[in-house]
Amino acid sequence: MTSPTIVIKAGREKPINQQHPWIFSGAIDAINGDPQGGDIVTVTDKKGKFLARGYWNARSQIQVRILTWQDEPIDEAWWRKMLKRAIEGRGIQAGASKRGAPNAYRLINAENDFIPGLIVDRYGDWLVLQALTLHIDQQKLMISKLLNELLDVKGMYERSDVDVRGKEGLKESVGTLLGEEPPELIEIYEGSKILVDVYNGHKTGFYLDQRDNREIVSKLISEDLNGHCDLLNLFSYTGAFGLHALRGGGAHVVNVDSSLDALELAEKNIQLNGYDKGEHGESYEVIQADVFELLHDYADEKKQFDIVILDPPKFAHNAGQVENAARGYKDINLNAFKCVKAGGYMMTFSCSGAITSDLFQKIVFGALADSGRQAQILKHLGPGDDHPVALTFPEGAYLKGLLLKVY
Ligand code: SAH
Repeated sequence: MTSPTIVIKAGREKPINQQHPWIFSGAIDAINGDPQGGDIVTVTDKKGKFLARGYWNARSQIQVRILTWQDEPIDEAWWRKMLKRAIEGRGIQAGASKRGAPNAYRLINAENDFIPGLIVDRYGDWLVLQALTLHIDQQKLMISKLLNELLDVKGMYERSDVDVRGKEGLKESVGTLLGEEPPELIEIYEGSKILVDVYNGHKTGFYLDQRDNREIVSKLISEDLNGHCDLLNLFSYTGAFGLHALRGGGAHVVNVDSSLDALELAEKNIQLNGYDKGEHGESYEVIQADVFELLHDYADEKKQFDIVILDPPKFAHNAGQVENAARGYKDINLNAFKCVKAGGYMMTFSCSGAITSDLFQKIVFGALADSGRQAQILKHLGPGDDHPVALTFPEGAYLKGLLLKVY
């Protein structure tokens, strides 16, 4: 197979040899063979030695994304092998059809599954695909066809309406790729029944990455709080953390979000599970508010809860925004500490890739110091194991969090 060749500058091969998947323009010495956007290219050192094979896009700062470090063709057989491997890597897959197992999870986690630019999430009988790069966009129908062969699904929907596509010279693209159109709301199961809007919801419709942390909250309530608790669920989206609390009975949940659509779906989710009836003593509120403002008020009013969950959106989109983001995280964490009862818990997160877990812990420490409270780290938190992070790709570790006991 002859593909255009990208020659790497002498001394710039190390990250490639260490299997980092991105090659920036600054590392490139020469481009041979006139590659077009999205084409497969072979990467060599200056002596012509094979280093890797990947896909090309001159419009992106990341000009090559590596698909393999072996001298093998990138053909349908390669794609079938890689998709199969990622699917089989989800241990969850085996139990997904069993009653009680979650039936929604991430199937393909882009660079972290060694398939740069491709996200695929499963929601029951439907798959939702995000093509983040030009090559993946060009291959998405072939990928859909292969996934359909490998999995028993009703249909596949595309939600490639993300800003990063602009950096690849791509516009938004949404719509059914294959099979049936998904229903307006897909019902998934994650401890409770949850409705997911794959058409308009955030990301591909739902924050799948928090599943294990939601389970931790449910255990905390049943095992440490005897089923009874006041839970303040900040940045609640469609209320998934709150559902895990309500399902045990005995919890009062306050869901807070700025999005009315998200809160409407949060209420629907509560009703779908019958938690609105309060038959086991459970009760809830939904509040549309800016969390920054609401937390200031709650802290002034000395309102306190057994558990406070703080799961804000990404505050830092790049390194230049870290300082401002840190101020934002500190502000909400400071007031959140004030809103935890003595002996209660706080679960606090950052999903900013530019903020490392060390830095996040320092910010939370700064907030604690100003709050005058005491806290212990019970657990360091991250995404569930359907969101693996490639060891060669530290950029993949975007979600970090702390479970704290607060005095
Ligand atoms: N915890 C959720 C996911 C949270 S995502 C889950 O488990 O599903 C972040 C949420 O914060 C989004 O729903 C967004 O609408 C909301 N949001 C963003 N800025 C906000 C603000 N300033 N105040 C309140 N909510 C905000």
